[in-house]
Amino acid sequence: METIFTKIIKGEIPCYKIAENEKFFAFLDINPLNGGHTLVVPKKHSSYIFDMDDTDLKEMMVFAKKVAKAIEEAIPCKRIGVAVIGLEVPHTHIHLVPLNEENDLNFRKQRPQFSKEEMQKIADDIVATYNKK
Ligand code: AMP
Repeated sequence: METIFTKIIKGEIPCYKIAENEKFFAFLDINPLNGGHTLVVPKKHSSYIFDMDDTDLKEMMVFAKKVAKAIEEAIPCKRIGVAVIGLEVPHTHIHLVPLNEENDLNFRKQRPQFSKEEMQKIADDIVATYNKK
């Protein structure tokens, strides 16, 4: 199934890429709850995280952990929050959100605005810490 995320993975739509391996891909959420809000997606399409097979699900969490550690090091925050919603885009994804307070994981909160240059700088900072790991 073709989704906006399969197009991002194939490079047909631009994104602020953070990391990828053979099976998974991470990029900044375009409408972030906080600077550094990142989405982790499987390259093989699935619509719903709990329909993934056990091996893929485990491996996606391990990949997400490495990405979360890189975000945590690059972006000042207390910890990285994790959410799965998927009501907007029917392609499994995990939200990794830098948290300073509980409300940072409130998807109805007023979202901060970032310029393209600011988004690119955030991505570059996270990529630099990811590549050190
Ligand atoms: P949900 O499916 O409810 O988990 O939400 C989908 C998320 O994908 C939202 O946080 C959107 O901001 C994000 N999103 C949608 N399109 C893009 C895109 N082209 N690049 C990055 N993030 C996106």
